[in-house]
Amino acid sequence: MTVVTDRPGGTAGAAGVGDVLTLRNVSAAYGPYRALFDVSFRAPAGGVVALVGSNGAGKSTVARTVTGLVTASAGQVIFDGQDVTDLPAYKIARLGMAHVVEGRGVFSSLTVEENLTLAFRQREGRGKLRENLERAYSAFPILGERRRQMAGTLSGGQQRLLSLAKVLVVPSKVLVADELSLGLAPVVVDTVYEGLEEINRNGTTLVVVEQQVHRVLKLATWAVVLEHGSVVYEGEPSGAGQAVEALMARREEAASAGVAEAEESERAEAADGNLSEGQGGGNERSAHG
Ligand code: ATP
Repeated sequence: MTVVTDRPGGTAGAAGVGDVLTLRNVSAAYGPYRALFDVSFRAPAGGVVALVGSNGAGKSTVARTVTGLVTASAGQVIFDGQDVTDLPAYKIARLGMAHVVEGRGVFSSLTVEENLTLAFRQREGRGKLRENLERAYSAFPILGERRRQMAGTLSGGQQRLLSLAKVLVVPSKVLVADELSLGLAPVVVDTVYEGLEEINRNGTTLVVVEQQVHRVLKLATWAVVLEHGSVVYEGEPSGAGQAVEALMARREEAASAGVAEAEESERAEAADGNLSEGQGGGNERSAHG
């Protein structure tokens, strides 16, 4: 598959000065199932990389490979100048990589404040706890209002803010945000995106995995489009919309070709059945049916 890259004179995935994260020909698999094929792209430091593609394209697998939850079967992941391909997730996290996944990282039976306290103590000890809590509440006032509420009773959007608050207060070099807008009302998605922007303003590079392509492309400074586990576009966000539309058009074409093929084979089977009945041969379907 041809990778479109609009970087002048660039090779997709070649590490450049100012890139905080680089993937070079990364492949990954779940047992015998290969999910990524030679994935290469870079994340310029301080930017927002949109990782888009249709269902099953491999976006979450890329996110997991970058953060160490899935180990690449080939290729390299370079984070902040260091080869982290074979490091476990906790070591990559210690180097300054955060991973926020929809529906995870929030303890339902603890209050908002207990959730934050746990996260801040783990990362910075007791010293700055009060100061960090105040920072979290001033960035996301709704969390301050609900500090004594059980996290499990927060709305989906508020729970995602809670998981972002942990990252906002103790900044990471890179935050991988995986499908944070999933299932949220548009107005709540706005709040989550404002949270992401705030984290980016604080100096964290974002890799945002998203199905709502137009939404994330507005925020992005760099875009990567995946299809069937391969990169089909890497470059300026302005070119990604077109790449995605071309993909969708190809998918629709393939889907209607599939329907036509299925109809044709149904017709052929029916004709076959009629023929058997007519000949008195009685295949199983006509005999019983
Ligand atoms: P979605 O937006 O639907 O989550 P995605 O682009 O994030 O899709 P992935 O979740 O990375 O795609 O999945 C890529 C491929 O790997 C899919 O075919 C999926 O079925 C498969 N896959 C994902 N997770 C696993 C797993 N734990 N075990 C086996 N196969 C998996």
